Amino acid sequence: MRVQDETDAYLLLEELRWHGTPICAHCGHDKAYFLNPKGGTRGSGPKRADGVRSQSVRRVWKCAKCRRQFSVLTNTVMHGTKIAIADWLTVMVLMCSAKNGISAREVERLIGVTPETAWHMLHRLREAMKRDPLVGMLSGTIVADETFIGGAEKNKHASKRKPAPGRTPGAKVPVLSLINTETGEVRSQVIPDVTGMTLRKAIEQEVMASESILHADQWASYKPIGRDFVAHVAVDHGNGQYVLDGASTNAAEGYFSQLKRSLDGTHHHVSREHLHRYLAEFDFRYSTKELSDTERINRMVKGAAGRRLSYRPLVAR
Ligand SMILES: [Zn+2]
Repeated sequence: MRVQDETDAYLLLEELRWHGTPICAHCGHDKAYFLNPKGGTRGSGPKRADGVRSQSVRRVWKCAKCRRQFSVLTNTVMHGTKIAIADWLTVMVLMCSAKNGISAREVERLIGVTPETAWHMLHRLREAMKRDPLVGMLSGTIVADETFIGGAEKNKHASKRKPAPGRTPGAKVPVLSLINTETGEVRSQVIPDVTGMTLRKAIEQEVMASESILHADQWASYKPIGRDFVAHVAVDHGNGQYVLDGASTNAAEGYFSQLKRSLDGTHHHVSREHLHRYLAEFDFRYSTKELSDTERINRMVKGAAGRRLSYRPLVAR
């Protein structure tokens, strides 16, 4: 899908977000009036890749209750954007459908924006892909596994067996992923280290242990939290034995290898402070892999609401 016409893009975005009933961005009321632009136009619109500044086709609504004006962009990650909505939609489609996501470089070329704009755009859309903070906890058969981003993968398991607990080798960043093998949902997070205490805290936040079975490898740090689960199956990676009594951490292995391929191949260098947003993107795609591209975009547009990510704090460090 490549949206070309800006009016169509607005209509499409409104449809994806509201399904025909505009919701006030300020008070949540569901009755609003469309405001016809004076003289038929709203001044100059966004500049397209060909350098032509189009006529604005911004569609503005007025809330019947609080009387304030809003558009489909108000109070979303696209709030105040100068980029054409058609271009936002094009990038959204690619992020949702390409297995490795899309790089800032590709966005730059595709829609003719600066490297900073492309980078910021992608981070804003990653923000939209973050899971709803009010979503419930995971329960079922949960695979827990951790990996280190930014270093050589081949020594992972050997290094995990070293006696000193919780070491973070070099500049590598530890990441914990929890996969519900029944629903296919994955939740990943950057963790400070891989000690028992850290893993316990991270897992407790996301999993209803008393209703779940834990599958993890034999890393000793899983033992304390494992006792809170209905059952804890330790899978022996070390002997190349990935399946034990039907238990497996293969789901996590597959997830991590895809994540690393993409971080190395598509996104190149990802720093620790931004890594959580890439994880949100990967979790989103993995967790929605059974959905169609349209359903996935729909979910992304819904996630864009109520979230903002401005450029300055993003590069403040
Ligand atoms: Zn309102």
